Amino acid sequence: MAPALCAICKTGRALIKRPKNHTKLCKSCFINIFEDEVHHTITSSQLFYPGEKVAIGASGGKDSTVLASVLKTLNERHGYGLELVLLSIDEGIKGYRDDSLETVKKNAVEYDMPLLVVGYDELYGWTMDQVVETIGKKGNCTYCGVFRRQALDRGAKMLGIRHVVTGHNADDVAETVLMNLLRGDLSRLSRSTSIVTGDNKSEVKRSKPLKYSYEKEIVLYAHHKKLEYFSTECIYSPEAFRGSARTLIKQLERVRPSAILDIVRSGEDMARLVPGESASSCGGCKSKTETPVAAPEDDAGGCGSSNGRNPGGEMAAMDKQLRENEEAEGLEVDITKLVLESKNRQKEKQRDSATKNGGGNPKPTTRQVLGKCQRCGYMSSQDTCQACTLLEGLNKNRPQIQI
Ligand SMILES: [Zn+2]
Ligand SMILES: [Zn+2]
Repeated sequence: MAPALCAICKTGRALIKRPKNHTKLCKSCFINIFEDEVHHTITSSQLFYPGEKVAIGASGGKDSTVLASVLKTLNERHGYGLELVLLSIDEGIKGYRDDSLETVKKNAVEYDMPLLVVGYDELYGWTMDQVVETIGKKGNCTYCGVFRRQALDRGAKMLGIRHVVTGHNADDVAETVLMNLLRGDLSRLSRSTSIVTGDNKSEVKRSKPLKYSYEKEIVLYAHHKKLEYFSTECIYSPEAFRGSARTLIKQLERVRPSAILDIVRSGEDMARLVPGESASSCGGCKSKTETPVAAPEDDAGGCGSSNGRNPGGEMAAMDKQLRENEEAEGLEVDITKLVLESKNRQKEKQRDSATKNGGGNPKPTTRQVLGKCQRCGYMSSQDTCQACTLLEGLNKNRPQIQI
């Protein structure tokens, strides 16, 4: 049987079945269409302006590595005129972050981009290893997520940069949409669909240029472009509820490949129905030119790298298959345990929201007014920001250390 030909160029051998829609493409057409789609996302949402300095939140994982590579390519090809810098956060996780930072350092050389590494220890006086030592593994992702958000903002400020791009992909966004749907948090759901997050008062804007890119396509792109990335998952357990959402999305994708984008677009459509919120993006080019802005506390999840949130082991299997000669560890997860943890967490949440909202009423959709944290000066709607609140609790448990 003759080999199938590429659906686009009709001459190359179709080696890749696109995870997004199952079209069969040759390698170079796949790479081109992947890049073109990101370019389309960028231009249709007017993400950058010429001469803008942009920091790429770089974890060394596949998403941010592909983001850096694609942005460099598109910047040169289409003359965006961007000044690109890599910004990495060192959470202080031995055997995980120190290794992945080595990958970022190599990428910085290869892509010829400056690199700044900001550590939790220097910013907060705590490494994640110390946090986990103190509070245990449960809930550590919350600390890490809150700390990372601030660390990226602070790192950007150190660089004099007002725009941070992150490697959140379509799977991440779909996950967040689903989680907020299951929590009944429409306000947060609508904010999570925006391509741009960050508040008007925030000095640092955040965006997700890979918002419509499938995780599987990111892996394929990295493989075929021979990009070097770090693929071990975070050694601390990911948030259970997010893990369950992720498993569900991977299952849906199996029977309906478009499910991921469908969830993202449904989220965008729902966002338009929420007063005071606006979804972004092209969503199939349905208009809009405004730059939507969302509240700062919301982003796709705790873990900056989706390497750590992969209960089905599907991406790891794909990785393994692609790398062939490399040994990849299976990411088996005890589903019963996940479900139980998820239930416990939901119970906690229910109790929380019952007290906050007077018994499970829908959360208000009004925007919070932002001021500054009285302790650290970081923007916050409370007198004390989330990070300082968490630090207060941590420091009580470690009285011998003075901060
Ligand atoms: Zn082709
Ligand atoms: Zn603070």
